[in-house]
Amino acid sequence: MAYELAPLPYDYAALEPYIDAVTMTLHHDKHHQTYVNNLNGAIEKHPELGKHTAEDLLRNINSVPEDIRTVVRNNGGGHVNHTMFWTIMKPGGGGEPVGRIAEQIRKDFGDFEAFKKQFNETTAKQFGSGWGWLLWDGGKLAITTTPNQDNPLLQGKYAILGNDVWEHAYYLKYQNRRPDYLAAWWNTVNWEEINKRFEQAQK
Ligand code: MN
Repeated sequence: MAYELAPLPYDYAALEPYIDAVTMTLHHDKHHQTYVNNLNGAIEKHPELGKHTAEDLLRNINSVPEDIRTVVRNNGGGHVNHTMFWTIMKPGGGGEPVGRIAEQIRKDFGDFEAFKKQFNETTAKQFGSGWGWLLWDGGKLAITTTPNQDNPLLQGKYAILGNDVWEHAYYLKYQNRRPDYLAAWWNTVNWEEINKRFEQAQK
């Protein structure tokens, strides 16, 4: 298989009480696995593509053969998005940002509370399934959303962090209360990993 699902880097219950173990189990083992399976299924029709990373397929989506382009966009996006998502969270995470991203948040948003408010309000308004993103865009931080599993790489942008607002990410615990999930999610974030991604974004 060209693409593989990495094990969750912590226990399924490790993000309790903010994200419950059943949600984490279904989300990683079923939803993410399905994106990986569907991506591999598509690549079987064009095996030469399997030598590229999923990120590179998204960056160059218009070079992907048309018969599998939508499947790669959706499921390659699903794979890349969730691979990021597991690593930007950790047990005992959250708190105030640290490092260079903390400085940049102050510079571009004033303070962490103002940044969080803007991120949560923007992401809460994403109609239907999608993601809220923090991007590095033209030398400053920017907040945006995408529908479905669209990754910002499709537009040549690199996501420093993203939060999943598909109902499968929160519905068992938060039901229709997406804003409550968005508020609680910050207690899981892994600022060390987000700083690594910020560094990567600037390359
Ligand atoms: Mn998801």
